[in-house]
Amino acid sequence: MRVTVIAGGVGGARFLRGLRSHLREAYPNGDGGSTAEITAVVNTGDDMWLTGLRVCPDLDSIMYTLGGANDDERGWGRQGESERVSAELTAYGIGWPWFTLGDLDLGTHIARSSFLRDGLTLTEATARLSERWPLGVRLLPMSDQPVETHVEIVVDGKRRIVHFEEWWVKHRAAVPAQRFIQVGVDAAHPTPAVLHAIEHADVIVVAPSNPVVSIGTVLGVPGMRAALKAAKAPVVGVSPIISGAAVRGMADACLTAIGVETTAVAVGKHYGSRARGGLLDAWLIDETDAPGAAVLAAAGIPTTVVPLWMNDPATSAQLAADALAAARR
Ligand code: GDP
Ligand code: CA
Repeated sequence: MRVTVIAGGVGGARFLRGLRSHLREAYPNGDGGSTAEITAVVNTGDDMWLTGLRVCPDLDSIMYTLGGANDDERGWGRQGESERVSAELTAYGIGWPWFTLGDLDLGTHIARSSFLRDGLTLTEATARLSERWPLGVRLLPMSDQPVETHVEIVVDGKRRIVHFEEWWVKHRAAVPAQRFIQVGVDAAHPTPAVLHAIEHADVIVVAPSNPVVSIGTVLGVPGMRAALKAAKAPVVGVSPIISGAAVRGMADACLTAIGVETTAVAVGKHYGSRARGGLLDAWLIDETDAPGAAVLAAAGIPTTVVPLWMNDPATSAQLAADALAAARR
């Protein structure tokens, strides 16, 4: 059983943790692990060079969460880290004072930057970083070419283009985004490892991640949509929107910017039915959104209604099981 998951940071990480736990039960290898293989194709549009280091927020959220080291309370970074180095960098006037990098997290960025400077690709560097963690999931950046999401905003009557993280973290997405720009996307392509994981998957899951700046960015890499369309495996998506709201985070601000309503129905239609040239063979929406199932079915998207909150390991594992069951249908 090979499952390939298209993912962003927090929503992707939570889903992957549930999927790993479900597959360990459903396909045990007798050693606490699973004979099933999970590959995550991860958004790298939030990546940046900061204080001379390559930072990959979504890859790291997933790595720390699956490695059991994520600071779940804060939502990012590592448990038990201090910010002494970050304070020092601020004192030197480099970096972004509103984007604190904890000391343990900085260790990851230093190691990654070192691998990249040795000439490794991001895929290879990610594999090296993953070696020390018991992930049970193969992490693949969507592309080895840098693609950076920038956002056009208007501040004090002036048009400005800022890095996605500046809009997201500094402005808390409160300044309306005029548009998103994928800098570098024209020269990017999915890695051979990503294409292989899509082609040879038994099931492909679109995680409950931000539809615009996580999933949308992955889909925007030239060749990605074609690979998904050509895949033999069913593609099942999990709605990141429950009861008309982004569960955690500010996905609604991103959807509004691209003119899509913040509802499970609108996001499902935005992805579209694979039979009609879109992405999805199946779509999972929450019980509170059940009335939308008929609308989605009419749009050619077979829809399953299940609880979508990933509150703890049990609910996350059940959601993963439900997604695989929907794919089988
Ligand atoms: P980011 O890169 O850290 O912003 O994370 P992602 O792109 O992977 O996912 C963020 C989105 O995940 C949020 O905006 C929510 O819509 C969604 N999400 C977070 N927690 C849950 C959950 O428990 N259930 C569902 N269905 N979606 C969730
Ligand atoms: Ca992200």
